[in-house]
Amino acid sequence: MKVGFDIDGTVAVHAAVLGPIMRALRAAGHEVHIVTGDPANRADAAHLAMRGQQLADLGLGDAYDHLFVARYPWWDQKAAYAQSVGLALLIDDDPRNCAAITRAGLLALQVTGHV
Ligand SMILES: [Mg+2]
Repeated sequence: MKVGFDIDGTVAVHAAVLGPIMRALRAAGHEVHIVTGDPANRADAAHLAMRGQQLADLGLGDAYDHLFVARYPWWDQKAAYAQSVGLALLIDDDPRNCAAITRAGLLALQVTGHV
């Protein structure tokens, strides 16, 4: 099974809870995909490297298999990525992303409780 996790508002806020879930999925043989967006809409190698460093700084450097950065509007990009790689689930705080995943016929869980 492949499971996607958003960064901003999701693992960036709830790393203490979601990190162990991500590691447990990997330990059980599942794939963890980070599926994030670039507010500056570059989604280039530099942004990819910055996101990788952000995940490392969150203590999540060992908690994922793949990192995808979407351009705006990222909800459509995220849904297209989820379909292309066969994500079973996306965990994300943005209702637009969750709605796009649902429209694509996939499962989304919306994280709430921002800090
Ligand atoms: Mg988010």
